Amino acid sequence: MKRILIVEDEPVIAAGLQDDLEAEGYSVQAVSDGDAGLQSARAGGWDLILLDVMLPGRDGLSVCRELRREGNGTPILMLTALSRENERITGLDVGADDYLTKPFASGELHARIRALLRRATPGVAGHGFGNCRFDAESARFYKQGKPVELTAREFKMLKVFLAEPGKILSIDDLLKKVWGPEMFLTDRVVYTHVNNLRAKIEDDPAHPRHIISLRGLGYRFDP
Ligand code: CA
Repeated sequence: MKRILIVEDEPVIAAGLQDDLEAEGYSVQAVSDGDAGLQSARAGGWDLILLDVMLPGRDGLSVCRELRREGNGTPILMLTALSRENERITGLDVGADDYLTKPFASGELHARIRALLRRATPGVAGHGFGNCRFDAESARFYKQGKPVELTAREFKMLKVFLAEPGKILSIDDLLKKVWGPEMFLTDRVVYTHVNNLRAKIEDDPAHPRHIISLRGLGYRFDP
């Protein structure tokens, strides 16, 4: 189920959006100001953020700019007020993926959301999982919006895991894909690197939720 975060301060609009999107089969959570929006977005796990521009405290533009600056690539659909042409342009300038002018028809909203979710399929803008973001092209990795340095080997290992989510990768698979076929190495090198990677990507490395050990089989990556 796709998860959508709504950041909207007008309770009637927020509740209306939430009902509407839940009826469409999305899992929805709504917050009512910019700081709460930023916090929830940083916590991660969203497939899309509906972000109102005019918010008390930190406005939607600032939230969007900050998330992009931190490397957060979650698709953002900006909600702007009627006839504020500048808001739309600025919204796209600060990294929003699309915008919708209020008031809008629910069918239009659904179509825009579907389009953004389609575009967000992994590969182009990088991979998001949990509260992490990984951009293979620029070799950058962020956890909760903060950059984390990966060694070359950890980088390669994460790339291998991300390429095959939900699949069992044996120790031999990992040795071949991360180190190369001709290297003579013991299984231990895999355990060590998996543990180092867990320490960087997992909230609780002792109880990993992304890199799962499967006794006697290897590992499975759960995004
Ligand atoms: Ca507003």
